[in-house]
Amino acid sequence: MGAEKAVIRAARICYQSEDKSNEASDQRLITRLISSTPKHNTVFEHAVFRFGVKCPLFVARQWMRHRIGTFNEKSLRYCAADREYYVPERITSGREAYIAHMNASFDLYESLVAQGWKKEVARGVLGTAIYTEFIWTVNAWSLMNWLEKRLDSHAQWEHAQYAQAILAMFAEKMPVTAAAFQQVVLK
Ligand SMILES: Cc1cc2nc3c(=O)[nH]c(=O)nc-3n(C[C@H](O)[C@H](O)[C@H](O)COP(=O)(O)OP(=O)(O)OC[C@H]3O[C@@H](n4cnc5c(N)ncnc54)[C@H](O)[C@@H]3O)c2cc1C
Repeated sequence: MGAEKAVIRAARICYQSEDKSNEASDQRLITRLISSTPKHNTVFEHAVFRFGVKCPLFVARQWMRHRIGTFNEKSLRYCAADREYYVPERITSGREAYIAHMNASFDLYESLVAQGWKKEVARGVLGTAIYTEFIWTVNAWSLMNWLEKRLDSHAQWEHAQYAQAILAMFAEKMPVTAAAFQQVVLK
């Protein structure tokens, strides 16, 4: 929502330079805003993204540590957990035991619910590899902060896969900003 036009509008208000707006000077302005120190970051908050995400619970827990943005997540109090869970493909040894454990936990969950347990209590037996779904609304500045942290080599690989996918979407909608961000921040 808004994309680079909204960023340019916000920046040009600051300098009262609307009359200088053209494609080349707007691109230079965005690159300068990303590169400047200290950063004139708030102009990027006028561009807003909304994503529908399906990911393992452990990725969602890390994701929701990012406070600048808003989330709404599928409720396992009100909705039954689907028998769906993440299986790491890169690890081969122990995979069968992992899958058997996840299936056994779903068997137990479903039998407890069938016995009359509340879903909100029965879910306690499920592991963090189960999938969750949420909607995330975030401004472009906070999105770049998330990308920087979750594309870092210290970030968990599974979370980084989501960051890679969202970086591609970000680049599609805000190509000049994403290029400058990759050049200046991600390097
Ligand atoms: C590799 C990695 C490992 C991590 N390990 C752990 C861990 O073991 N345990 C753990 O608890 N967390 C961990 N985290 C989470 C981390 O501490 C941050 O909570 C998370 O990355 C969100 O970053 P953020 O605060 O910049 O983002 P946001 O919460 O989106 O905040 C964005 C920016 O707003 C400002 N801001 C937001 N809230 C405040 C505030 N209250 N006061 C002042 N400024 C504020 C800050 O400038 C902040 O950078 C880890 C993160 C990474 C990337």
